Amino acid sequence: MATRYRCSACGNLTRFDVTSTKTTKAFHHYTIGGELVVEDEEIIEASVHEVACRWCGHGRSVEVLEGEESPGAARAADSPSAR
Ligand SMILES: [Zn+2]
Repeated sequence: MATRYRCSACGNLTRFDVTSTKTTKAFHHYTIGGELVVEDEEIIEASVHEVACRWCGHGRSVEVLEGEESPGAARAADSPSAR
């Protein structure tokens, strides 16, 4: 599940400049000619340093949206005979 952001200053939900560092492990597959193909990249650690709103140009009003479920996932718990 991807982290979602919202800028409370302008209401932006879709455009952010995210500065992050990732530690990844990958299979580096070289051809005889020395050309590299990176396969099976796995993210070991990821940390986000800064999230800036694309429209405001800063991240002072950016909030992280927590507990957002993908559409449909929340409905599975509905039970008509719960009472
Ligand atoms: Zn904004």
